[in-house]
Amino acid sequence: MISDIRVGQGFDIHRFGDEDGRALILGGVTFPGERSLIGHSDADVPAHAITDALLSALQLGDLGERFPDTDPQWAGANSIEMLKAVVSEVLSLGWTIRNASVAIVCEQPKIAPARQEMQQNLGEACSAPVTVTGRRAEGLGAIGRAEGIACWATVVVTR
Ligand SMILES: [Zn+2]
Repeated sequence: MISDIRVGQGFDIHRFGDEDGRALILGGVTFPGERSLIGHSDADVPAHAITDALLSALQLGDLGERFPDTDPQWAGANSIEMLKAVVSEVLSLGWTIRNASVAIVCEQPKIAPARQEMQQNLGEACSAPVTVTGRRAEGLGAIGRAEGIACWATVVVTR
C-alpha cells in the first residue's frame, strides 16, 4: 500500500573543454572522439541530473552540497557511483524509486545510438526503469552553439 508519493526534478549543465586525456561520459557511456566536458568529477550530466532529482524529491539537499567541487574526494569521480550512493540513502529511508525520465539537450554527440546502454547503466544504478531521450537545441543559445550539454531529469519515489 503506497501512502506517500514524491516527485523530484533535477537539472545539470556542463561546458565543453578540451582537457587532454579526458573522455566524454554520459549515463556511464564513454563517447570516444567526442569533446569532453569540464567538471570536478567525470561531468556525467544525466547521472548528475538524476542524483539532483532524487535529492530534491526527498528534500535531502542538492548535488553541490553533497559532492562539493572543492572536495578532492570527488575529483574525477565516477558519477554513477555518486548516484548509487544517493540511491542507497533513498532506499534506506524506506523509499522505492519508481522511474526516472531524463532529457539530454545537446548538439553533439548523437544520443540515440547510446540510449539503450545509458538506460541500462542508469537503471541499474537506480534499481528502477530510466528513460533517456536526446534533443537538439535547434541552434538556439549556448547549447545550440554546442558550448556544452544540459540535462533535465524527473524522478518519482513512493513508500
Ligand atoms: Zn554536473
